[in-house]
Parts: sequence; structure tokens; C-alpha cells
Amino acid sequence: MLSEDQRKEVKDTIQRMIAEAEKELKILKELTAAVEPDNSIGRISRMDAINNKSVNDAAYRNTRKRLKQLQNVQDMVDSPSYGKCVRCGKPIAYERILIMPEKRVCVHCST
Ligand SMILES: [Zn+2]
Repeated sequence: MLSEDQRKEVKDTIQRMIAEAEKELKILKELTAAVEPDNSIGRISRMDAINNKSVNDAAYRNTRKRLKQLQNVQDMVDSPSYGKCVRCGKPIAYERILIMPEKRVCVHCST
């Protein structure tokens, strides 16, 4: 069971993570903008740009997914069930909650 102080700390952490994810998405969105067929960059660097684009596209999708999870979990922190594993019902280690507040399963159930 989380104490009031712990819940507050978790909420602050989630808010900070949401802000970071939003900032990251903005940067990734610019990076994933279409690779223009620009003759001023060489063939190799154009291939590099396309490779980077697929890496950035994947990062963009992951970050967007995480942001959604963080936003969803934000309202759940006050619920008594938050902090307990949704699979086995045991309390999730507080350190784990602070690192990955969007995860609702304990370290044993996540593997
Ligand atoms: Zn569990």
C-alpha cells in the first residue's frame, strides 16, 4: 500500500515523464519528416537519412505509446489498486513504480 507521500511522488514523476515524452515526440516528429530527394546531399548520406528515419519512426511510435500509458495511469494513482500487480495482486516494489509508473505488473509477472 502506497503512502500519501509516495502517491504524490509518483504523480510528480508521471507528470515529469509526460513532459519529457512530449518534448521528445516533438523532436522526433521533426526528425521523421519526409526525407526530401535533395540532390545536394550525396547518395550515401541520403541512405543514412532513410536509415535514421526508420529508427526515428520506431522511437516515435514507442514514445507515443509510452506517453499514452503514462496519461492513462495518471488518474489511477489515487485508486487503492494502484501499486499492486494486476496479475498476482502483490505490491509492486516502490523503486519499480518510480522508474516505470506506467507498468501495472510486478517484476515477476512482467517476465
Ligand atoms: Zn505480479
